[in-house]
Amino acid sequence: MDRGENILQLLPKLLPKKNVLFLTNNHSNECADQLAKEAINKSNPFFLPKPLSYLKSEIRSAVLSIWQDNWDNGETGRGTHDIVPRVSNKPVGWNREEIMFVTGHGPFPSYLLRFNLRTHDNCSCGEKGDPMHYATKCPFILSWHFQTPTVPLKLQWLKNILTNSFSRTRLRLLMRFICDKNNLIVEDNN
Ligand SMILES: [Zn+2]
Repeated sequence: MDRGENILQLLPKLLPKKNVLFLTNNHSNECADQLAKEAINKSNPFFLPKPLSYLKSEIRSAVLSIWQDNWDNGETGRGTHDIVPRVSNKPVGWNREEIMFVTGHGPFPSYLLRFNLRTHDNCSCGEKGDPMHYATKCPFILSWHFQTPTVPLKLQWLKNILTNSFSRTRLRLLMRFICDKNNLIVEDNN
């Protein structure tokens, strides 16, 4: 039912033929006729209330629209936005380690520095300790490395990892290794 649908448009639906025939033999028919005439002659058509399910659907749609706008125009989480551009109430299906890797919110020097838990964002090997460093370059984690993507293909490289069961297992093991050996890998020498 469209929002603008009024009583005049609904009359044929409310009074199907068989019911009209039934009403012609009793007093109620006079009332029905009178109401129909009033509805037809009424200069300002009134609107029927919508069901609760309709209201919930409208609110849900409005909230998702606001959420999507905030997500598209936000200043943080841009890397995650590249992977998941559309907001949804459904979980993306990532495990804890995958979330840490994609968002960068994990035991990485690059993340710990933001909260003043370190004095710099370097790995113990000397390079910047962000998720990509540990997944492709850090000499402390050679056995879990992925092939380094070319810069233009970095996003597709990450999407491929998250959609491949073998790569996801490898990523999970990599992240667990970083968590277990955190004191060695992200040691703050200063
Ligand atoms: Zn390193």
